[in-house]
Amino acid sequence: MNYQARRRLGCCVYLVFDKDEWMLIDIGYEDTVSEIVDMIRQMDFPLSSCRYLVATHADVDHIQGLKRAKELLSSAKTVGHPETKRLLLSGDRVRTYAEISAQDISIDLPTIKLDRTIDEGDRLPIGGLEVEVWHTPGHTHGQLAFRLGDLLFCGDNIYRDGCVGNIDAHHGSDIPAFIKSLERIRDSSVVWLLPSHGPIFRKDNAQLQRTIDRLKTYLHMADFGTCAVDWPLLDEWDQELARGFDPAKS
Ligand SMILES: [Zn+2]
Repeated sequence: MNYQARRRLGCCVYLVFDKDEWMLIDIGYEDTVSEIVDMIRQMDFPLSSCRYLVATHADVDHIQGLKRAKELLSSAKTVGHPETKRLLLSGDRVRTYAEISAQDISIDLPTIKLDRTIDEGDRLPIGGLEVEVWHTPGHTHGQLAFRLGDLLFCGDNIYRDGCVGNIDAHHGSDIPAFIKSLERIRDSSVVWLLPSHGPIFRKDNAQLQRTIDRLKTYLHMADFGTCAVDWPLLDEWDQELARGFDPAKS
């Protein structure tokens, strides 16, 4: 949607339709909701035929506009993972990145009660289509992806340049889970990836493997703090201390 508007508005907003029904995957920031809804109206989609407003996860750049969108598209059901529901209901400003105090980032997070939770294996019917829900934790626990034929709306799992959604302990990131989610995408028969940021791209397993291998190194790096599972340097140091430290041999 936002590419139709010729610029990026927060995150990618995807409209999926079939016959007389449609849904939106993410909505982005609140101040661009009315522009997006206007554009949908101009394309002759009846607003009353919107079936779902989907939150891929609870990050503020994806869902800040959800409450406003629900006001304009009242027939639509707001849906997301149970974790997303919890964060949006409680208005958790840290886990949603509404508040990054060290960087003076503080933006509004309208609280909203999702109409329905969705999780692995659920299907969202749209016209004659069924959009399949994948639970793909890693970036955050509530991250969902959505499969439609050979397309995967992959959220913040992977971008065209091989980067992934931010890995951050305060965000509930989990590197082992992230690796599993990426392996699932790699091993799937999906052909096209439609990410939440940046352009759509063809799935490239060699590139996905490089990303997976990179994340595997993070598991053992102090750079990733409590998201890492160990730090081999400390084991090495233990062994060196047990052997005795000889400056002459260092
Ligand atoms: Zn994002």
